[in-house]
Amino acid sequence: MLSDARQNLAGPVELEIEKNFSGKSVIGGFARFAITQLEKIKSDEPESLRHITKFIKLLSHYDNFEIAKREKIVQALKRFLSFGTENNLGNKNISAKPTFSNVKEDRQKLLLDTAIQMVPGVGPTRAKSFEDIGVKTVFDLLRHFPTRYVDRTKLVKISSIKTGQDVSFLAKVLDVRPPQKGKRYIQALFGDETGRVLATWFNAYHILKKLQVGKTFVVSGKAGDFGGPHMTNPDLDDSAGNVRIVPVYPATAKLQQWLISQTLKFVTDRMPQMDPGWMPESLVGKLELPSLTTSYFTIHRPKDVEAVEVAKKRVIFESLLLLETGLLIQRSLFKQQKAVKISRAKKISKEFFGSLPFTPTRSQETVRQEIAKDLESGIPMNRLLHGDVGSGKTVVGFAAAKAVMDAGFQVGWIAPTEVLAAQTYRNALKTLPGTVLHLSGSTKKADRKTILEKIKTGEPAIVIGTHAVLEDWLEFPKLALCVVDEQHRFGVMQRARLAKKGKSPHILVMSATPIPRTLAMTLYGDLDVSAITEMPAGRIPIITKIFNSESVQPYKKALAEVQKGNRVYVVCPLVEESEKLEAKSATEHFEYLKQTHFKDIPCGLLHGRMKSAEKDEVMRTFAEGAIQVLISTTVIEVGIDVSQATVMIVENAERFGLAQLHQLRGRVGRGSQQSYCFLVTDRNAQAMQILERTNNGLEVAEEDLKLRGPGDIGGTQQSGIPNLEIAPLLTPTNLPLLSLARKEAEAILEADPGLTSRENARLKEGVAKYMSERTGFAWVS
Ligand code: ADP
Ligand code: MG
Repeated sequence: MLSDARQNLAGPVELEIEKNFSGKSVIGGFARFAITQLEKIKSDEPESLRHITKFIKLLSHYDNFEIAKREKIVQALKRFLSFGTENNLGNKNISAKPTFSNVKEDRQKLLLDTAIQMVPGVGPTRAKSFEDIGVKTVFDLLRHFPTRYVDRTKLVKISSIKTGQDVSFLAKVLDVRPPQKGKRYIQALFGDETGRVLATWFNAYHILKKLQVGKTFVVSGKAGDFGGPHMTNPDLDDSAGNVRIVPVYPATAKLQQWLISQTLKFVTDRMPQMDPGWMPESLVGKLELPSLTTSYFTIHRPKDVEAVEVAKKRVIFESLLLLETGLLIQRSLFKQQKAVKISRAKKISKEFFGSLPFTPTRSQETVRQEIAKDLESGIPMNRLLHGDVGSGKTVVGFAAAKAVMDAGFQVGWIAPTEVLAAQTYRNALKTLPGTVLHLSGSTKKADRKTILEKIKTGEPAIVIGTHAVLEDWLEFPKLALCVVDEQHRFGVMQRARLAKKGKSPHILVMSATPIPRTLAMTLYGDLDVSAITEMPAGRIPIITKIFNSESVQPYKKALAEVQKGNRVYVVCPLVEESEKLEAKSATEHFEYLKQTHFKDIPCGLLHGRMKSAEKDEVMRTFAEGAIQVLISTTVIEVGIDVSQATVMIVENAERFGLAQLHQLRGRVGRGSQQSYCFLVTDRNAQAMQILERTNNGLEVAEEDLKLRGPGDIGGTQQSGIPNLEIAPLLTPTNLPLLSLARKEAEAILEADPGLTSRENARLKEGVAKYMSERTGFAWVS
């Protein structure tokens, strides 16, 4: 029997010839790939043992050989693959015909780096839509992972369907409504002996051909409620006998589910060979993981749920191991650097705390000590400080700044927005003695120059601004501390850049994004983590309540607050009406509220599509009180501080994650008055009840993690999972993989700190690549 591996190797061999024996025809290196395949052939065809051993020996030095020698090896390999037994390394005749006449054709069809446009069925327009979601090649497409699976092997009856569930049911088409003039949707009515469901498809004319009255389908999708059981863009399968597990992909209006599935089916039917990956072989064996090729195939074409879990594990592990190993190496590299010793940091910061008009909380005190210890150590501090909104992180940062300035050094303070920078600056002027400077995007050129001159003298100072001014900070002659407020993702890049300039300041990254401790340690493995876990005494906890959209209570209460002179936020999930009919858009809701609940009350509208000058104007007017009700999308999530705002109403609250809802809630409750957060939803609100129970962001995040898995925490970008593609694969069930990857990375580095062993060679290459791509930080060991 001829081995599959022969077939797998034939394409790359052709390509290696075409690429002039560069050794790089396959991702990860031709020789490495060829050796792996030969190993497989060897076990399938023991009779070829002698030839294969010789090839493997030659290939293991392939990259060191001259082109002429490489050519000989590859041509011989090609003949061997074609005929099975020949091995004429000395034979110069290179015209031997491969018996696989389809080899070349197949290869031209699909390689990992084949442009997506070359896949049949994908023209220039669709290629553009694919590109919009980051898919440029076949490989990118294979990395467009499903967010979930619909289990069509479990069919339900229509009468038992509940809103919000992912379901499949067997039903007949009772009626079809083709697109009406000017409308872009198709509707069909399905029924079984227990009930009926209306389905709507947008921009999916191809579905019309399938829909024939009387025909039976397995209908799969998320059950909605649209004045009766309803589904939007459900999946149809007419092979009723052939029910299976169906992946559901992140889709867009232009790039719909069926198109993604269809393209992936074509690609996986001709599954291109993946390279062996970065994980050490022994670890793959120990964890009993399949090859990457098998794993990618299974993720898109699963036979059963169990196989998916194993396949996901392989792909996730591949990424997480690089991440964790990279973070650990980075951490140890930073620790090898020297930083300024701030000799009296403990004493000075303690005195600073003593001078505050309030008593610091126990947590603040603990964190102050942790930071002071770092500052005195002579090793650069790399610390992440977690603390809920309002927990008092600023004074902790100021205490560190004070110690650094007293020791004769300079401090840079980066805020995420101009508004926050200005706020911190005013705060610092009141609290910190010495030179306090504010450098903003709108600082005039002349003033800017004066400030920079001042810094250049090297006098002790703190400069507060947004990251826009960071370039200038690099000139700080005596920069010893960088505080990065509310922007943890920013920190890694920054450190890398500073380190490149030969500076290793102490770095304190402060964040209110609640991330469970396990996750924080895993994702920010290069940082030490401190947490403020309690709020200053005397805060009035926000009252949170869930309502359905019929209820007038939230708006009644809001109106009462407005009449008391307080302010109200109303947050809606989308900017404009879109195909997601049930979502209220901010714009429409604004019009509606002005005519109903808030008649004669000054209302403002804020959304991401407005110009930034317009946005600033609206925000300013709201802060001053000339606008009392602000109807907005989530643009208000970060950094806005209006202490007279006492009500937050979130419409379609089910569309937000718990962590995000918690962040939105943090916009109120900032003054001395009782504040309220009203979550409006018509869906199952069980998950949201945690918000009614607690104001503690960490508890909310733990719950969120349990419900949705790490991939979704606080919106992927905020969670800082650097490898965005794998995020959809991370679910509550495979959460333990995070810590497992961490553990394995630690074990590998403990045994082989420089990753110098042969077994870790691939891992080393992967980590180096990863580190330079993600952080711009070159790792040379
Ligand atoms: P955040 O952690 O969100 O950055 P801030 O540092 O802005 O919070 O603190 C919020 C408010 O609480 C500030 O007005 C600050 O002065 C005050 N504050 C901080 N710590 C305490 C404390 N221990 N007791 C009372 N008020 C405090
Ligand atoms: Mg803050």
